[in-house]
Amino acid sequence: MNTLKDFEKDLNKCSKCGLCEAACPLFKISPNDCVASKGKFIMLHGVTKGDLKLSKNINKYLDMCLKCGKCNAYCPSGIDVCRILNTAKYEYMKTTFKSKLINFLESRFVIGTFMNIGKFISAPFRPKKVKVEEPVAKVLYFKGCVNQICPRTDKYLAKIFRNLPFEIIEPDFECCGLPFLSEGNLERFIEVAQSNVEKMSGDYDYFVTDCASCESTIFDYPKYLSVKLPLEKSVNWGYLIALKKLKFKFKKPTKVTFHKPCHLQVDSYIERIFENCENIEYVKMDNYDDCCGFAGSFGIKNRKFSIELSKQKANNIKATGADYVITTCPSCVIGLKQGLALTGGRTKVVSLLEFLAKADNIS
Ligand code: SF4
Ligand code: SF4
Repeated sequence: MNTLKDFEKDLNKCSKCGLCEAACPLFKISPNDCVASKGKFIMLHGVTKGDLKLSKNINKYLDMCLKCGKCNAYCPSGIDVCRILNTAKYEYMKTTFKSKLINFLESRFVIGTFMNIGKFISAPFRPKKVKVEEPVAKVLYFKGCVNQICPRTDKYLAKIFRNLPFEIIEPDFECCGLPFLSEGNLERFIEVAQSNVEKMSGDYDYFVTDCASCESTIFDYPKYLSVKLPLEKSVNWGYLIALKKLKFKFKKPTKVTFHKPCHLQVDSYIERIFENCENIEYVKMDNYDDCCGFAGSFGIKNRKFSIELSKQKANNIKATGADYVITTCPSCVIGLKQGLALTGGRTKVVSLLEFLAKADNIS
């Protein structure tokens, strides 16, 4: 496991050019050096040199980050901000008593028991599994924690793909690990990552997720474990829908817009899906890829920022006049709903699969 000291060279590479500040959504709201990576790196460099203590105050700024990666894209020194912040958080948490309680609550025993109860309760509400005799493709499905407990996505998938026989393989994947990573529980993150990687071997054509955050966390496993993942097979359900040119007919003319989650790697298929939807008008909102403001525990720890970002997003949604705002991340659904509720917006927030499952030719 890496320590903050291992990143001293990277921290040294920061030229203080400030380009990350121009990209950081938080810096736009609160122009304080420490909210963007430039200021965070100055503090952390002070820690690695022994001039500063990894204190509660520095931890406040570690938590003040959406992990959106927008600064990474602009940084001329190519510094991986999220990895450094996650390592610093891990080191800080090790010094606190609170971490023992968090580690217990996030343990396989507690989370595993909670998930098993959720799966047991939701099992009768899931569509029955049908044996596919001649599959068009084998899909290894990483369902994510929300869908493990909530049966709705299984119903949408059964409707959308009922005429396109995919063999869906669902090993007993654990959580992708993002909540552990962002709370500084690196040991637990490595544990779930290793367990998930073992289940990703085997014979399949596509590795599919339907949560942008799970997808991006899994893509990051090779940074923390020495593994090679078949990332060329990784897609999400939207990509497969566009690839197979599935048609959706809506009787009522409907206007939609799309919110791109920060963690969604590719979104070029979205417009192709809407082109195959009868009676759907797609309107691209301004800054469609700006953060929804929720970002997991960020939205709880930084309420003022979260509210401000979600309101900005809601105003862009409302300006499109869309009936629905569609996204592909359960956490963004919360952020979008928060912003619309705070600004009196009436646009309905739905996941891509939920929206397509409403089509009149398939429901
Ligand atoms: S863009 Fe990169 S090099 Fe420039 S200040 Fe930000 S972190 Fe440092
Ligand atoms: S990851 Fe996003 S929120 Fe965090 S410092 Fe970079 S741009 Fe700002």
